[in-house]
Amino acid sequence: MSIQALVTTNTGSAASSVQALEPDALGEGDVTVAVEWSTINYKDGLALAGAGIMQSYPMVGGIDLAGVVETSEDPAFKPGDRVLVNGWGLSQTHNGGYARKARVPGAWLIPTPEAFSNRQAMAIGTAGYTAMLCVLALEHGGMTPQRGDILVTGANGGVGSIAIALLSGLGYRVLASTGRAEEADYLRGLGAAEILDRAELSAPGRPIGKERWVGAVDSVGSHTLANVLAHTAYRGVVAACGLAQGMDLPGSMAPFILRNITLAGIDSVNAPRPVRIEAWTRLARDLNLDKLTSTITEVGLADVPKVAAEILKGQVRGRTVVNLNR
Ligand code: NDP
Repeated sequence: MSIQALVTTNTGSAASSVQALEPDALGEGDVTVAVEWSTINYKDGLALAGAGIMQSYPMVGGIDLAGVVETSEDPAFKPGDRVLVNGWGLSQTHNGGYARKARVPGAWLIPTPEAFSNRQAMAIGTAGYTAMLCVLALEHGGMTPQRGDILVTGANGGVGSIAIALLSGLGYRVLASTGRAEEADYLRGLGAAEILDRAELSAPGRPIGKERWVGAVDSVGSHTLANVLAHTAYRGVVAACGLAQGMDLPGSMAPFILRNITLAGIDSVNAPRPVRIEAWTRLARDLNLDKLTSTITEVGLADVPKVAAEILKGQVRGRTVVNLNR
């Protein structure tokens, strides 16, 4: 039986449409998953725009999926198990979550934590799991709420929203940097104590300046990250995961050698399984589900290309889940 999927092709410029896919076209793997939910991350926006994420075409996008195991040749999984995948080869070398079925290696699967429905797991998605990787990096650097304020950049985005919810729940005082002041109430609802205008950080700045926070979660990169580093307090820690402003880092050595700060890089795509399990276990423990709910917008498969284009323009707030059964 054919499978409804959003298929992306590229003949000069990328285009995506809902099509019927034959099961043989799903790809290699030892587990077949009936996909219930997926999501739209910034990287999904890049993938559907043909920005070099998908390494061959046609390809089913969607770097995240959650659903129920249908068949499994991997003894670790059996039919009926609730599972999720974040990253690995999805939407790069392997068909992703924008289809009602996926065939994937069992090694990519994580059991969906009991604490979450599959819909909630996709509301977290790669963005939320990455936010938790950032929190873990701050903790590995010795961060505690007693040490001072934590800045979150790209506050209205997926990583930013979940990072604010997580950090405030853990007792940190959170500063939220955003270009959308009109969303201040939403950010305060997630737990932000103060709202900063992102324009303060997005232009070229001084190599080092006044100490303003002791740690940060940065999903923006470029001049913003350079300025975040320049204002981080002595022995502070900055977790850098994103590039919404740019891939460059036009900064100075001064914060490192004068303030002893740590810049922690974050990669979610190829993170080893134990790291993923740790992040999801901590999400189940630390993420307030009411706050998660406040971040969610739900769409169907046919709506994905529109939202994927909007997320690249910074027009999407929080997290968008994709209902595969709609
Ligand atoms: P979103 O689009 O949801 O969030 C990005 C946010 O950044 C926007 O909402 C906006 O927040 C802000 N922003 C957008 N454009 C600019 C700009 N030009 N200058 C300054 N701020 C800007 O994306 P995600 O949360 O899904 O991802 C965030 C970043 O993290 C992306 O670059 C993504 O590729 C990266 N990422 C990396 C991962 C990894 O493994 N390293 C995993 C997941 C994400 P506001 O309106 O509040 O200013």
